[in-house]
Amino acid sequence: MSSSSPSDQAAVLKEVLEALKAMQINQVQLASHVDAISGRVNILAGIKEVRDVAAAAAAETPSSTSTPLSKAEKVPSHDETHDHAVPQSPSLPSTGIPPGVDVMPVPTAHVPAKSVTSRIILTTYPGQSGINPLPMDWGHKDPHTRGPVVVSRNQNTVRRRNAIGAHGGSYSIYYALAVASNEIRADHKPDFTNTEPAANIGPFPQWADKKKIVSMDPLGHLAPWIYKDLIEKENSKCHPTKVPDGKICLNSSGELAVTKFAVEPVWYLPGVAERFGIDEGSLRRALFEHTGGSYPELITRGDIKLFLPPIGGLTVYCFGDPAKMSDEKVRLALRVHDECNGSDVFGSDICTCRPYLIYGIEEAVKEAQKGGSGVVIYFRKEGRALGEVTKYLVYNARKRGADRASEYFKRTENIAGVKDMRFQALMPDILHWLGIKKIDRMLSMSNMKHDAIVGQGIPIHERVELPESWIPADSRVEIDAKITAGYFTTGHRMTEEELSAVKGRSWEE
Ligand SMILES: [Zn+2]
Repeated sequence: MSSSSPSDQAAVLKEVLEALKAMQINQVQLASHVDAISGRVNILAGIKEVRDVAAAAAAETPSSTSTPLSKAEKVPSHDETHDHAVPQSPSLPSTGIPPGVDVMPVPTAHVPAKSVTSRIILTTYPGQSGINPLPMDWGHKDPHTRGPVVVSRNQNTVRRRNAIGAHGGSYSIYYALAVASNEIRADHKPDFTNTEPAANIGPFPQWADKKKIVSMDPLGHLAPWIYKDLIEKENSKCHPTKVPDGKICLNSSGELAVTKFAVEPVWYLPGVAERFGIDEGSLRRALFEHTGGSYPELITRGDIKLFLPPIGGLTVYCFGDPAKMSDEKVRLALRVHDECNGSDVFGSDICTCRPYLIYGIEEAVKEAQKGGSGVVIYFRKEGRALGEVTKYLVYNARKRGADRASEYFKRTENIAGVKDMRFQALMPDILHWLGIKKIDRMLSMSNMKHDAIVGQGIPIHERVELPESWIPADSRVEIDAKITAGYFTTGHRMTEEELSAVKGRSWEE
């Protein structure tokens, strides 16, 4: 090997690295298969024990309702004071045990009529009988080859599902409440009459690039119509994951219109993992464990590649003709805004969120009025995606200490463990969906947003910072800390010393 050139050596090293990476992926997959198998074995063992005990009890004392059982596997009896509609564990009541092993029965006597079925499907496995997911070829340009995203868990569709999670993000919990309290029938079929998109977007070549769009369904807004026949045949629910809600005039002469597009996230897990430079197995495992084990199929169903995460989505506000967003011949002004309820809605002056949002809207409208296109995209990522509770803990700590710009990021990191969890890596997907190929005026100073967009091959021609006069006094701490940390500015970047002199209002004030 002494004669090999450095480039040969680099190539060999790269090969070795690739091989190691492949081994790592295999190992993670193997581990999840082992987990899956042992999970099934445990359930089988539990069911068998219950059956054996029930059979023995029936032979001895036919009239008994409180059968003695081994302590750990005690089966709930009808004499006990618990809610019979609540499933206890994989150990089952002796009646109604189904021949299938992956489902567990729940006593139905106390269950309100028809909103739920008698069986709860805990999880599924690829080789399980009846499991036959609808084909999903993510990124295929023919919608029918690509296939619809089917996530519903109702009795008819659970075996045909090709996505994990639930529609509506965090709102799926309210849906669960509505079902549990009989406000809605679990078999309700949406009537999509007249709900078609208000504006026509695409299709763009980016829609058929599985590397360009990994965090939303590019066909989601058309799903009920593209897949109408299939939905009827399968009796499945197929929600649109994007709902444009129409046009409204903005000014008295009625010349301006805003078109809104609401998007809920649909994650193509291999693509999301790649965006973050991690392997799919690690991503699935972290998602499973840190949602309290809410989605076992992240582990058991490696064949299902889609996940609808329980997080907020985004809204696109388009000023001017929506067709202009993808027209390279006209100028485009863009603000990508992450939610900050306290400032955006309630006008808190501790940060620059609301001023920048308003400035972004004004500049977007101006661009549209000049014949170009103006776009504001609003992401539900409250408090840097740390949530409002963490945000207020940080506010309290800042205001009880010396609220200095030099301590701004440290305070968040001390409490949350990270400075920021917004992870802009997935953000540019929406730009690809809108067909945006370049941005003339980017109304943002964030280097993370800038780098993510440029990294996706969309050039930014001009970055526009928030004018000084728009910055509230108390928010200097935030904006100066950000600028010093690398946010875009055409002005002065402070030294550490200057930064420590920037102070906000104190707790007492
Ligand atoms: Zn804010």
